[in-house]
Amino acid sequence: MILLDGKKTSEAIQSEIAAEVVKIKEQGGKAPHLAAILVGHDGGSMTYVNNKVLACERVGFDSTLLHYETDITEEELLNKIREINEDANIDGLIVQLPLPKHINPNMVLEVMDYKKDVDGFHPVNVGRMVAGLPAYLPATPYGIMQLLERYNIDTFGKHCVVVGRSNIVGTPISILMSKCTNPGEATVTICHRNTVNLAHHTRQADILIVAVGKPGLITEDMVKEGAVVIDVGTTRVPDATRERGWRLRGDVDFEKVAPKCSYITPVPGGVGPLTIAMLLKNTLRAAKKEVHS
Ligand code: NAP
Repeated sequence: MILLDGKKTSEAIQSEIAAEVVKIKEQGGKAPHLAAILVGHDGGSMTYVNNKVLACERVGFDSTLLHYETDITEEELLNKIREINEDANIDGLIVQLPLPKHINPNMVLEVMDYKKDVDGFHPVNVGRMVAGLPAYLPATPYGIMQLLERYNIDTFGKHCVVVGRSNIVGTPISILMSKCTNPGEATVTICHRNTVNLAHHTRQADILIVAVGKPGLITEDMVKEGAVVIDVGTTRVPDATRERGWRLRGDVDFEKVAPKCSYITPVPGGVGPLTIAMLLKNTLRAAKKEVHS
């Protein structure tokens, strides 16, 4: 069994990005610039955004954090986004979710310039991904594809079973795995809450990708011998032995499942660390106008 080391892979990707930024600057170009919008004071969201800003600094990007109070109106926020759309100095924009209830996240996406949508959530980017055109890929599926590629995992003609169909993980990874790309070329099954006999499907998987948010959902008997298992789930569970009182658990019963696998991601340290690296990669691609001219 080989552990898919997301931390090491993320560090490698970030080093490559930093080296490219050095080159861009040496050639007289400007540093890629990411703007992040945060509304309110949710602890988790503040940590995520701060980590993204710090990651920008690490690779030599410019970053701007726009932090608004929860009472910002939808129209005010949309106007801020329109301003960023017009700001030629900013290459990429992310709006940290969740937003307060009075702001419709779909409106935010509709207003945002898809050329700056480095989260890859705008309908234009989603449509281009489905059509196999250059697009910003959502960070988590993009990270999974990087793990498969960098560990040279053969996906050609394999049966890939994806559990979970969210717009940010399950649906996009199922599309990417089915494309005629490498990684890709897999035969894909998507499972969800209403799938009858989940274990029947997961047991057939050569590659099992689980993005549900239910700790330990995938047990030993649900996994085929030699399968590649990618566990996206990250749920905080109480843990009195830790100072902070919790630890992260994946959707897969790692201890029991790992010995059966050819490859498996740990939680934490698997898919998670790749998310920020792939956001940076999308921002670099935005600055280089690699995706949209
Ligand atoms: P989500 O939007 O809540 O979607 C969960 C999906 O799981 C839904 O499609 C749901 O089906 C399906 N599901 C729920 N119970 C199920 C069951 N018993 N059997 C089969 N399918 C079931 O979640 P998400 O945003 O995709 O995130 C999933 C997990 O990944 C979470 O733990 C999240 O924290 C984690 N995550 C981690 C990263 C990272 O590491 N960077 C990034 C994103 C997400 P229905 O559609 O039928 O409701």
